[in-house]
Amino acid sequence: FHTLRVILGDQLNASHKWLRKPDAGVMYLIAELHPEATYVTHHNQKLCAFFLAMEKFAQALTDAGHHVRYLTLDDTVDETLESLIIDTAHTLKVKKIELQRPDEYRVLMQYKSVAEQAKQSVSIHDTEHFMLPFEEIPKHFKPKMSNRMEHFYRKMRKRFNILMEDENTPVAGKWNFDSANRNKLKPKDMAHIPEPLLFNNDVSHIQERIKRHNIQYLGKADNAILWPVTRHDALHLLQFFCDHLLPNFGRYQDAMTDQTPQKWTLYHSRLSFALNTKMISPKHVIKAAILTYQYRKKEIDIAQVEGFVRQILGWREYVRGMYWINMPDYHTQNKLDAKRDLPSYFWSGDTKMNCLSQAIGQSLEFAYAHHIQRLMVTGNFCLLSEIEPSQVDEWYLGIYVDALEWVELPNTRSMSQFADGGWIASKPYAASGSYIQKMSDYCSSCHYDVKEKVGESSCPLNSLYWRFMNKHRERLLKNPRISVIYGNWDRQDAQQRDAILNRAQWCLDNIESL
Ligand code: FAD
Ligand code: SF4
Repeated sequence: FHTLRVILGDQLNASHKWLRKPDAGVMYLIAELHPEATYVTHHNQKLCAFFLAMEKFAQALTDAGHHVRYLTLDDTVDETLESLIIDTAHTLKVKKIELQRPDEYRVLMQYKSVAEQAKQSVSIHDTEHFMLPFEEIPKHFKPKMSNRMEHFYRKMRKRFNILMEDENTPVAGKWNFDSANRNKLKPKDMAHIPEPLLFNNDVSHIQERIKRHNIQYLGKADNAILWPVTRHDALHLLQFFCDHLLPNFGRYQDAMTDQTPQKWTLYHSRLSFALNTKMISPKHVIKAAILTYQYRKKEIDIAQVEGFVRQILGWREYVRGMYWINMPDYHTQNKLDAKRDLPSYFWSGDTKMNCLSQAIGQSLEFAYAHHIQRLMVTGNFCLLSEIEPSQVDEWYLGIYVDALEWVELPNTRSMSQFADGGWIASKPYAASGSYIQKMSDYCSSCHYDVKEKVGESSCPLNSLYWRFMNKHRERLLKNPRISVIYGNWDRQDAQQRDAILNRAQWCLDNIESL
């Protein structure tokens, strides 16, 4: 072999130019690695989904005539990514090592070290996945300052001519249909939510390896996983989304319920794992959604498809830009000086707060929660309770099947914890119980009373919210979108304000028992 090419678990792009035709002089290396399985405690289903997707990808490459060395945890016990690449290149006596650009800073550092140590020439190639070329990130994003998603998104719409009437006019004359996308699910709507398309991919052999190597994990372990692990699965899930979920995607994007078996999926696509492993490309997903909209205009309105396109062309590309422009400084951001430990119910779901119990319980069961559960339930609670951002990051990075640092970190530390003081969010995503009540039915079966701010049975989020706003008054008052809230606080009498702050302090002092 003259060349060793490395493919990581999140680089399963079958359309990559490397794979167009087999080359007898090229060996592909795909490997399960102990440090990757343990750099954070992952959800069991996340470990299994990645390993099975890698295994299937290696098999597909072999079937297509490529030479592939697939190594399992059994083969790589003492290896790091760097040592494995260097040793394999040496054993195979190759002249060249070819890598694909990693999405995570940690891996980039490892690749730099490979380049320094290797005797062969080392080159890094594009993954051919994202829409914005990596080199252009500095043109669109400035480090350590506010970069607004909406601004970036409009540029991307124009550049790729997506949902555009002409060069400058968006379809239907509006860039953003967010205000039409905030419906709560009513009981009569529940019956129409489609059953989710779940896969039944056998991972019993991977579970044995996880056990044999004593890999620590969190969440529910199962011998079958319901995530797509091949391009075929991913395309099937995309088709299912376009056929059944897109017509209501935007409408119920922010809704939450505990009243139906579909409560954990609703109208969300669950394509994030397939996208983040690159089994499917953002371009393909966007095109499929827009074609569906064009063919079914009578049933699917623009607000649904624009809402979906914004998540992928907008948010997903944007957080990648924000990650790379701010690394490695992102890791140390803690502008609100949050220091508290994450309570133990984040690993059990065992709390009397029904919203948290539902969001955490479903995350432990399925390695999935949708955006509003991540942002406005668990994220909001951590923000209001001043949980140390590294602990929040670690939990999010471990528990979700789609969690990779480039997308997890800006969403968690920046958007949800406001630890950067506003690089992504123009104001903290802080909310009292009334937001949860507006968007869900969680409160009706909760131990706590969402209408109360003080007293033993009052919703903890209410007093914690006002404590947070009061504490950060000086910082937040500068923001015109927020100053009106302080009017509401100031209008309450001093005794009531003290009682709310006392209740909040009690909740923080007794956070484990909430
Ligand atoms: P859908 O609701 O169907 O949306 C479609 C697609 O849009 C998603 O698959 C995803 O690729 C993209 N998308 C939507 N919102 C975002 C966003 N804010 N950032 C980037 N892409 C987005 N997403 C991850 O992929 N990995 C993570 O580790 C991750 N961590 C998060 C942590 C927090 C605190 C928050 C608030 C959000 C996080 N997100 C993360 C974003 C979002 O919650 C998930 O992408 C989404 O819930 C995945 O489910 P879905 O595929 O059903 O999404
Ligand atoms: Fe959550 Fe408060 Fe509603 Fe209970 S009452 S579900 S704690 S918002």
